[in-house]
Amino acid sequence: MDPEHVRERLAEEATRLNEIRSGFDDLGRESEAESLGELSSSDQHQADVGTETFEREKDLSILEQVEAELADVEHALRRLDDGTYGTCEACGKVIDEARLEALPAARFCLDDQSKAEREARAGS
Ligand SMILES: [Zn+2]
Repeated sequence: MDPEHVRERLAEEATRLNEIRSGFDDLGRESEAESLGELSSSDQHQADVGTETFEREKDLSILEQVEAELADVEHALRRLDDGTYGTCEACGKVIDEARLEALPAARFCLDDQSKAEREARAGS
């Protein structure tokens, strides 16, 4: 795996994630103004408020996801510097190159990733 290529992929990821994040800033301001208007005008506002809250929670969890991925990208850049990039943080095995190509900020091999996701779901 060519470190320069990895760096480029990580920079692309960071740009993409930052764009999504700044998109959410705009979205937050817009929907705030919109929901205030809806409250006074719609006779079905009860349902709308429910949907709105759900949408906002969904947006927030996406935003959290984006923040977490950005942190992973920065983490991956640090690991690239100290030479540990491309190995699983749980078992120390080399992560599959196709996986790194698709997910340059991956911290775990596929096995440990799915294990971690199962544990996260069980814990919540
Ligand atoms: Zn592993």
